[in-house]
Amino acid sequence: MTSKNNAKDNDVAVKTTNGSGKKNDNIIEIKGITKVFEDGVTVIDDLNLGIKRGQFVTLLGPSGCGKTTLLRLIAGFETPTEGEIYIEGVPITAIPPYKRPVNTVFQKYALFPHLNVFKNVAFGLKLKRTSDPTAKGGLRKFTKVEIKEKVDRALKLVGLEDYGHRDVNSLSGGQQQRVAIARALVCEPKVLLLDEPLGALDLKMRKEMQKELKKMHEDLGITFIFVTHDQEEALTMSDVVVVMNDGVIQQIARPKKIYDEPSNAFVADFIGESNIISGIMEKDFSISFLGKTLKCVDKGFEKNERIDVVIRPEDIIIKKDHGNGHFDGIVSSTVFKGTYYEMEVMANDYEFTVQSQTEFPKDAKVSLEILPDSIHIMKKMLTINKFIGEVVGENLVSFCDGEFEIPTEGFEEGDKVLVFVPFTAVELTDDEEDGVIGANVTQSVYRGTYYQVQIFTDSDDDFYIDTADEWDMDDRVGVKIDGNKVRLERYVEEKEKEDA
Ligand code: ADP
Ligand code: MG
Repeated sequence: MTSKNNAKDNDVAVKTTNGSGKKNDNIIEIKGITKVFEDGVTVIDDLNLGIKRGQFVTLLGPSGCGKTTLLRLIAGFETPTEGEIYIEGVPITAIPPYKRPVNTVFQKYALFPHLNVFKNVAFGLKLKRTSDPTAKGGLRKFTKVEIKEKVDRALKLVGLEDYGHRDVNSLSGGQQQRVAIARALVCEPKVLLLDEPLGALDLKMRKEMQKELKKMHEDLGITFIFVTHDQEEALTMSDVVVVMNDGVIQQIARPKKIYDEPSNAFVADFIGESNIISGIMEKDFSISFLGKTLKCVDKGFEKNERIDVVIRPEDIIIKKDHGNGHFDGIVSSTVFKGTYYEMEVMANDYEFTVQSQTEFPKDAKVSLEILPDSIHIMKKMLTINKFIGEVVGENLVSFCDGEFEIPTEGFEEGDKVLVFVPFTAVELTDDEEDGVIGANVTQSVYRGTYYQVQIFTDSDDDFYIDTADEWDMDDRVGVKIDGNKVRLERYVEEKEKEDA
C-alpha cells in the first residue's frame, strides 16, 4: 500500500452519519447488523455498510462468510438479531419483503416450470398494486395492457423479446437465468440483489452474462448488489467491492485498489495468489526483502520501516538460467492453467508463485526479475502512531504541523522528541476547525468491534485511529489528541547515534 492515497480512488461511500446528521446519497445503510442463528452461531457480526445509489457493489468472500445471509437481511427473508437496515433513510426491519423496493435473483433461478416465459415474468406484477387516486383505497391492480408493456420491456432488457410464448423448460441455463433477471426487474426495484446468479452457468456463458449484466446496470441506472465468491468476477464487474470474511468486512474499495492495495493479508491472499513477503523499506524507492535490495515506486515511509511486500504471480518475470534476474531459483512445480503456466519457484528460502506463458519444467534453474512497479508495499499492522516532534513550550509539543497539548515534564523547550500516539488517543471532529490540524480520511476498515480509520494529514503524515465512529473516505476532519495518553521519548538523530 502506498502511503499516499489518491483521494479520487477512495470515494466509495462507506458510511453514514456519525452523529453529525450529514446528508449523503447512500440508498442503503446497514448499521450495526448482527445475525445470530438459532444454533447460536454469529454469521454477521456488527456489520456496517453504506451503498451509494446507482452503484454496482459486489460482496466478495469465501463460501460461508455470510454473503447470502446479508442479502437475505436486505431483502427481508431474515430478521437481524441486532442493528437496523435503512433504505432511502427508512428503517425496514418491520417492512415485509414484498413491500421493500428490492428484488432478488437467486443462484437457483426457480422458475415456475408450468408457466411460459411471459407468465413467469408477469407473475410478480399480478400480485402488485399500483397507486391510483381514483381507485378504492388509492390502489389498484395493473391492467393487462400495463402488464404486457412491462413484461415486454423486461424481456427486451435481457435480450429475450421474442421468447414470451416459450416453455421455460426448453431454454438453456443462460436463458433461464435471463428470465429470472427479467422477473426481478419487471417490478422496477430500486435495488437489485443478485446472489451468485451466474454460479450455475458454464464459463463461456458466465463471461457473456457478466458483460450483459454490466450493460443492464448501465442502462437501468439502479443499484446492483451482486454476490460472488469469484474474485475475478468481482473485480471485473464492480464499482465497489466489499470483501468479507467470517461475517466481518475486511475492505471496501474500488476493484483496482482492492487488487493493488489490499488492506490486510486476508484480502491480499483471497484476491489473488499473491506472494506476500516481509521486508524493510530502506529509504524512499528502495526496499529490501529475502536478502536483496530492489527498487520500488513507493516513498514516504519511515527509514527502515518494516512492511509487507505484495507481488502478483503474473508480475514476476521468469527467465531461464541463473544470474540474469534478482533472485536465482529452482522450479519446484509447474501446472498448466488453461492460458498460462503456474510455477512454484524456490529462491532465497522463499517459494514464489509465478505465472507465465512459457513453461519452465520442474527442477529448471531460473532467474526471477521484479520491476519496481510490480512491487506493492503493505503497511505492517501498526500498534502505535509515531512522529518526530519538538517541545515548543510548557506542555506543548509540535508535530504534524500542529501544536498539541501534551505533558512535557522532564523535557525543555527546543527538545526534539519522538511522540507515541496510541490509536485510541486520537479524536476526529466533523468540523476541521475543532481540531488542531486538518486531514482527509483515506481508509476505514471495520475490525470486528471498532473501526480502524486511516487519515492523511495536511502535513502529509499518516495517522491511525481506533474509533467506534464510522467515517467516509475523503471526509475532511479535524484531529484532536488526548495528551495524557501520549508518550514522549528523547529523539536522537541517526547521525548523533553513530557519533555516540
Ligand atoms: P455465503 O453465502 O457467504 O456462502 P451464508 O450466508 O449462506 O454464506 O452462510 C453463512 C453461515 O451461516 C454458514 O456457516 C451457514 O451454514 C450459516 N447459516 C446460513 N443460514 C443458516 C440458518 N438458517 N441457520 C443456521 N445457520 C445458517
Ligand atoms: Mg451464498
